[in-house]
Amino acid sequence: MKMNHSPILIIGGGLAGLSAALYLHQRGEKFLLLEAEDRVGGRVKTDIVDGFRLDRGFQVLLTAYPETQSLLQYESLRLCRFAPGAIILHEKGRTEIGDPIRQPSTLLKTLFSSAGTPLDKINILRLRQRLKALSLSEIFAQPEISTYQALSEYGFSPRMQSRFFQPFMAGIFLENDLSTSRRMFDFVFKMFSEGDTAVPALGMEEIPKQLAARLPQSAIRLGKRVKSVLDRDVVCEDGEIFTADKILLATEAPGLARHYLSTPPSEGQSVTCVYFYADKPPFKKALLALNAHPQKFVNNIAVMSNVSPEYAPSGKALISVSANGYHDWSREEISNTIRHELVPMLGEQVYSWRILQHYPIRYALPAQQSVNGDLPVSRIKLSESLFVAGDYLLNGSINAAMQAGKQAAAAMLAG
Ligand SMILES: Cc1cc2nc3c(=O)[nH]c(=O)nc-3n(C[C@H](O)[C@H](O)[C@H](O)COP(=O)(O)OP(=O)(O)OC[C@H]3O[C@@H](n4cnc5c(N)ncnc54)[C@H](O)[C@@H]3O)c2cc1C
Repeated sequence: MKMNHSPILIIGGGLAGLSAALYLHQRGEKFLLLEAEDRVGGRVKTDIVDGFRLDRGFQVLLTAYPETQSLLQYESLRLCRFAPGAIILHEKGRTEIGDPIRQPSTLLKTLFSSAGTPLDKINILRLRQRLKALSLSEIFAQPEISTYQALSEYGFSPRMQSRFFQPFMAGIFLENDLSTSRRMFDFVFKMFSEGDTAVPALGMEEIPKQLAARLPQSAIRLGKRVKSVLDRDVVCEDGEIFTADKILLATEAPGLARHYLSTPPSEGQSVTCVYFYADKPPFKKALLALNAHPQKFVNNIAVMSNVSPEYAPSGKALISVSANGYHDWSREEISNTIRHELVPMLGEQVYSWRILQHYPIRYALPAQQSVNGDLPVSRIKLSESLFVAGDYLLNGSINAAMQAGKQAAAAMLAG
C-alpha cells in the first residue's frame, strides 16, 4: 500500500541533509527528512555526561569556511576561540610556540630553537601569499599530490615538518602519513590563516541544532532508518513506506549510499577520542597540544574547558585526547596507554586524570587522497528521482557537507 507522499524526501539528518533542507525551506519548498538516529547532526554530536559536554570526536569549526559563514549565525553559537599557537610535546617535555600560520614571525622567537628555521618563516609567508591569491576553485584544481610531498615542495625543513606540520595535519586529516591530498592541505591552511578555530560554547552539536531549529519540526522524522530506495519508493526498517517525486540520499558513504553510487567509496579515516576530567588542567591556555614524538599513540590534546568553560562543571577540567585509528579497547587499557605516554611530557598529574568516556569512531572522514571543491550535477543526480549529498563527494569537512547539501537541493529544484 502506498502511503506518506512528499514531493521531496531527504534521507539523513547530518549537515548535508540539514543544509539541503534549509535551502529548500528558504525557497518555500515542501520536504520530509528521515533520520535514523534519535537526533539530527550525524557526525557532529555532543553528549552530556555528568555535566561535561563531550563532542563525539575532537572537532572544530574554522570560521573562514564560506559555507558556515553563509548558513550559520555565528553570534548565537557563542563561538569560543582557540588561542593562537600550540604546545609541542616532544621527547624532552613540551614547548609552547606562537601561531606559525597567522604570525610566522613568532617562529623565530619560539620555534627557531625547537623546530623551525628562518627559512621556514619565509616559506610560511610565501605559502600564505600564494594561497591568499588563489581562489578555492583554483586550489581544488591543482594536480593531486600528497600533503607529505607538498610540504617538501614548499621547502619546509624536516624539523618543521615533523615538529609542527605532521602532528598538526595528522589531527585534521586523521591519518599519520600525510597521504591526504595537497589540495586539502592548501584549503585547510588558507582557512586557518584567514579565520579563527572555534567551538560553540555548548559544544559542536549546536551547529546542526541551529540548522534544524530553522526548519519546520513536522518535516523531520527521527528514528526512521531507511532500508532501501527503489525508484520513488523509500522503505524503512520498521516497514513504513514513503513515496516522493525526488529523493535525496544524504547518508554517509559507507552506509546506505554505497548501494546506489556507481563507484564504491574508498575506506575512510578512523579516530579514537578519549575524554578525561581532572581538578587541574595540564595547561591553562586554550591551546592545542600536538604530540611530535615519532612513535606516538596520542596525536593531539585539548583542554576543552580552557576553550569554553561551559564544557565542564565549575572547578573541573575536561581533557580531550585523540589518537588516529580505531581502538576499541577497554577503558583501563586505553587510559593506561595514554597515561604512560603522556607522563614524561605533561608530568605526574596525568595519573590523577579520570576517564569519562571514549569514542572509537570507525568512519570519521572519507578517504582524501583525491578531493574536490565543486560538484558537477552529474555526480549529484543519479537518476531522474534519486540525488546524493555528503562530504565524501567533495572533501571531509563541515564546509563540504553543507556545500554538497546546498548543491544537491539546487539540482533537485532544477529538475
Ligand atoms: C571525529 C571527527 C572529527 C572531525 N573534525 C572535523 C573538523 O575539525 N572540521 C571539519 O570541518 N570537519 C570535521 N569532521 C568532518 C565533519 O564532521 C563531516 O564532514 C560532516 O559532519 C559530514 O556530514 P554529512 O552530512 O556529509 O554526513 P553525516 O554527518 O555522516 O550524516 C549522515 C546522516 O545520515 C543518517 N543515516 C545514515 N544511514 C541512514 C539510514 N539508512 N536512514 C536514515 N538516516 C540514515 C546518519 O544517522 C547521519 O545523521 C570531523 C568528523 C569527525 C567524525
